[in-house]
Amino acid sequence: MDKVENIVIVGGGTAGWLTAGVIASRHQGRRPHGFSVTLVESPNVPTIGVGEGTWPTLRTTLRKMGVSETEFFRECDAAFKQGARFNRWTTGEADEGYYHPLMLPQGFARLNLVPHWLEDGEDSFCDAVTPQGRLCDRGLAPKTIATPEFESVANYAYHLDAGKFSDFLRRHCCEKLGVRHVLADVTEIETGPNGDVTRLKTEQGPSISGDLFVDCTGFRALLIGGAMQVPFRECSDVLFCDTALAVQVPYQDPADPVASHTISTAQSAGWIWDIGLPTRRGVGHVFSSAHIDADEAERELRAYIGPAADDLTVRRIPIRSGHRETFWKGNVVAVGLSAGFLEPLEASAIVLIELSAKMIAEQLPPNRAVMDVIARRYNDTTAYRWGRIIDFLKLHYSLTKRTDTDFWRDNTRPETIPDRLRGLMELWKYQAPWLHDEFDRAEEVFPAASYQYVLYGMGYRTALPRGAHDAERELAQRALRENRAHTARLMDGLPPHRDLLDKITEHAM
Ligand code: FAD
Repeated sequence: MDKVENIVIVGGGTAGWLTAGVIASRHQGRRPHGFSVTLVESPNVPTIGVGEGTWPTLRTTLRKMGVSETEFFRECDAAFKQGARFNRWTTGEADEGYYHPLMLPQGFARLNLVPHWLEDGEDSFCDAVTPQGRLCDRGLAPKTIATPEFESVANYAYHLDAGKFSDFLRRHCCEKLGVRHVLADVTEIETGPNGDVTRLKTEQGPSISGDLFVDCTGFRALLIGGAMQVPFRECSDVLFCDTALAVQVPYQDPADPVASHTISTAQSAGWIWDIGLPTRRGVGHVFSSAHIDADEAERELRAYIGPAADDLTVRRIPIRSGHRETFWKGNVVAVGLSAGFLEPLEASAIVLIELSAKMIAEQLPPNRAVMDVIARRYNDTTAYRWGRIIDFLKLHYSLTKRTDTDFWRDNTRPETIPDRLRGLMELWKYQAPWLHDEFDRAEEVFPAASYQYVLYGMGYRTALPRGAHDAERELAQRALRENRAHTARLMDGLPPHRDLLDKITEHAM
């Protein structure tokens, strides 16, 4: 029986090193018995070098890999992320916006607070059900220096420097997890009679054999698109943005506050991300070139940044929305940009890498004979995840009331909205999103709570039958009161974000 013991990962960006770390840490006990994880990476092709917003899953992923969170903060220029604020998405007015925080609404597992908030909510939905929007408004951290590593007072993810993160993961994987690192350009991919990849030839000489190959070669998709010829399925008819402009903006004063949320500000034909790291901001404009030309998009980006942008060089990155028709074919599985790309509106790429790597590691086929069973399961789950992410991103666009440009008008045309999302939006006119709304898979990327934050943040109204929720009224009022008390306690007890970052860095020295 052909055992699966030699795992070869091609590509050393965030996808490659996270996948290597997740597989190697899970199978560490097998290493002395012939099991190996090899990562081959080109010394000539740079990594994409963007991708700074993450999801709280990364805490668990890093912890399981045996990483020190303090070292991670220090070496990756990392900061806390408590969610995202979406400005100017609903009406386009300068002062409108809402939060999609990372904390669930108070009592979410047992109670849907939407009906009660709809009846008598004075605050925004977010403020009524969670403290996190107010913590972000005040620039507070989600924990204190006394909170243990990876644990939270308020749920959090990270903002990080993508280049430093790959370097950090490489060192950890090679020094602590026994991953073999080969610096070489793959030039040829050999396949056997059944179509499986058997060996990679490299420009620098060594050839690399393996039992399972993970394609992490980024947009090049060398194995999945090249050797395995799996077609790419575009979704530019749903998500129109096809270009990104990225720039790194220094702080005027090194002690300037650091936002603990991603700021996403809608523009005339796209949106601008703004991510605060301890030493700089990462800012970028994602736009649809069919609706605005690149020079105009750059002017919008520079106007957003202000005079600080004058001497900065803007990098242009073409992007193509969509994903592979299938993700695991034969003995090749694609993870990261080789599997697909969707605009980074909700930082969904790195979380998908983590979930993919976890599934590969947990269900690693023991031999070739059962690999196709695992591959089918993997393809089914992964296709479901891509579909739900596309729906969730499109939700932000389909709820807009903006009609100021063709971009916003085109985005609300019904034929651009996926059927499943259109059906749910029809249903949500009469009932609020909740656990039974088909968000039923284990490790759903965006749970019903995320839909609630976006829908009610963007002014969606659900017309509920009168009296239908009376039975839960007392429980709900208690939960809303608890949230007010919890908010007051956290506002008093949590430090400014910048102060905590300084302390963590000092602590690590
Ligand atoms: P890459 O970083 O491109 O790495 C590819 C690797 O393959 C490199 O090491 C390269 O050397 C290697 N390679 C290529 N050819 C060969 C060869 N012939 N031989 C050997 N090696 C080879 N994601 C988020 O989660 N949050 C965000 O906020 C976010 N923002 C983004 C903003 C933009 C503008 C873009 C474009 C993406 C963003 N992403 C974000 C996505 C995120 O950047 C990627 O998912 C992540 O970095 C993973 O990239 P990767 O490792 O698949 O590819």
